[in-house]
Amino acid sequence: MPSSVNRTSRTEPAGHHREFPLSLAAIDELVAEEEAEDARVLHLTANETVLSPRARAVLASPLTSRYLLEHLDMRGPSPARLGNLLLRGLDRIGTIEESATEVCRRLFGARYAEFRCLSGLHAMQTTFAALSRPGDTVMRVATKDGGHFLTELICRSFGRRSCTYVFDDTMTIDLERTREVVEKERPSLLFVDAMNYLFPFPIAELKAIAGDVPLVFDASHTLGLIAGGRFQDPLREGADLLQANTHKTFFGPQKGIILGNDRSLMEELGYTLSTGMVSSQHTASTVALLIALHEMWYDGREYAAQVIDNARRLAGALRDRGVPVVAEERGFTANHMFFVDTRPLGSGPAVIQRLVRAGVSANRAVAFNHLDTIRFGVQEITRRGYDHDDLDEAADLVAAVLLERQEPERIRPRVAELVGRRRTVRYTGDPASAAGPPARERYAPPTAPAGHPARPRWIGVRLTPLPEPVTEAECAGAQRLGRLAGAFPHQIDSSGNVSFTSTDGRLFVTGSGTYIKDLAPGDFVELTGAEGWTLHCRGDGPPSAEAYLHHLLRERVGARYVVHNHCIPGRALETSGALVIPPKEYGSVALAEAVADACQDSQVMYVRRHGLVFWAHSYDECLALIEDVRRITG
Ligand SMILES: *Cc1c(COP(=O)(O)O)cnc(C)c1O
Repeated sequence: MPSSVNRTSRTEPAGHHREFPLSLAAIDELVAEEEAEDARVLHLTANETVLSPRARAVLASPLTSRYLLEHLDMRGPSPARLGNLLLRGLDRIGTIEESATEVCRRLFGARYAEFRCLSGLHAMQTTFAALSRPGDTVMRVATKDGGHFLTELICRSFGRRSCTYVFDDTMTIDLERTREVVEKERPSLLFVDAMNYLFPFPIAELKAIAGDVPLVFDASHTLGLIAGGRFQDPLREGADLLQANTHKTFFGPQKGIILGNDRSLMEELGYTLSTGMVSSQHTASTVALLIALHEMWYDGREYAAQVIDNARRLAGALRDRGVPVVAEERGFTANHMFFVDTRPLGSGPAVIQRLVRAGVSANRAVAFNHLDTIRFGVQEITRRGYDHDDLDEAADLVAAVLLERQEPERIRPRVAELVGRRRTVRYTGDPASAAGPPARERYAPPTAPAGHPARPRWIGVRLTPLPEPVTEAECAGAQRLGRLAGAFPHQIDSSGNVSFTSTDGRLFVTGSGTYIKDLAPGDFVELTGAEGWTLHCRGDGPPSAEAYLHHLLRERVGARYVVHNHCIPGRALETSGALVIPPKEYGSVALAEAVADACQDSQVMYVRRHGLVFWAHSYDECLALIEDVRRITG
């Protein structure tokens, strides 16, 4: 059966004959028709947006085929390294990303920003995976109270249980009864995931109930309003994380973002992403997001104020024409969306179908205690610059459809005419449209200080055979330490490296590709010294890529045991007394030097996003250090 859209379009779609596979010409035609249709529809969905020409152009740029790997502060200048995959870096994108991070600091009060999530759901999955364990309970908004319809199912497929906030029938959270649920269910995460809502959430009060448990606000719908200083200010009100997709009121590409001020939480998220939630972060979409963030910085305040004004205006205009709008007594809405109660108008599906036939796009939503509604959003028409006259005209057309005053097909051309008058995109941050501070014209890269011989990224290795492997007895201590350090909870792998000084004063370090949890005598390589940027070694194969770190620790403080694992200790770290070192590229000379510079001050160091380093003068001392930290972080 042909769909209703096919019936109402003027030409038959090229795929009509259903001869598959389609010719490429037929595909071109279908896409062109879909685009033309898009330009005739009045987009009043609450969950879509329109990109600026600048951001849209980037989506078709050649960069779309390039990988942008790893988190910014792991990428460093030039090539990016993810595991053992070495690629050309995209340094200039890194510069834009740094600037976008500063934008996030100013717009959202967020010290840390994570741009790698692909969508809102992907950000949600990342947070669940990073901040809860199988069997834990996640608190969410029930679907009947406006919660996202997939959150419960995601919890289930991740092996998490879920419980819900208690709402009273005026769309507000009953804090006292919610507190009782929290005390009974002991959730490990309070997630606010509303997709159908009109007013701000009591974040400060919820955080008071949550205590130490992280409170996460999923602002997929209202991120653009929050960026513009409207609606609410989740991080400053007490949310630990603000996350969202970036394509509803935030006028970016289809993508996700996570923002926060707690370094450990952000680190756990970043680590979870790096270790299997994302490989390609979709380069072109990322750049489009970075552009949209800048546009928001320049024009977001004006945009957000106009969105809210337009939502109230259109809701009021519909009410004036006899359409029943939800929450009239509270001014209809405090954000970009409002809801029409379909009960007096016919069944929800029939009403939405009439709108589609008239060329009006909206969402059907069953929310607010099972009320059947049509959800409208004005963020897209606001970006297109609709003024009050346009909104009144839109209200005339939509009311005529909803109240069945005219056949939808007769209204369709009038809708297309209105839409055709407003094709430009506003609030693009360009000088003509900018209300905010002027943009810097050109970026001048910082110049490197002269006269410093550049240190290499990697240490060189000269390898000769080792006549006899180290004995079982000599390496028994290192094996035991490796077993212990290689099995910390929340550890992603048991690679890492261990070194020890033998009774005759020789330095041995684990070989490349060994697992510290499970070491054999043949896994150790002797380091006999360094000459320039080359390590001299004896063994069957090269030492760990981090051998230089072990060499430096022995030089600087006479360490006899050094153990390095890949554990991200999370918030427990704050109480462990470990010294924190900023992220550095794995296995690099820079990393080894940073650890060596810090080792005078602490025998336990944490290299952010990477792992723990312990050093000691004896086996017993090293054992005690590892056991202490393990107790705290376990
Ligand atoms: C829309 C929405 C999502 C889903 O975002 P996608 O980018 O479509 O995956 C997640 N959470 C909330 C609260 C939403 O409103």
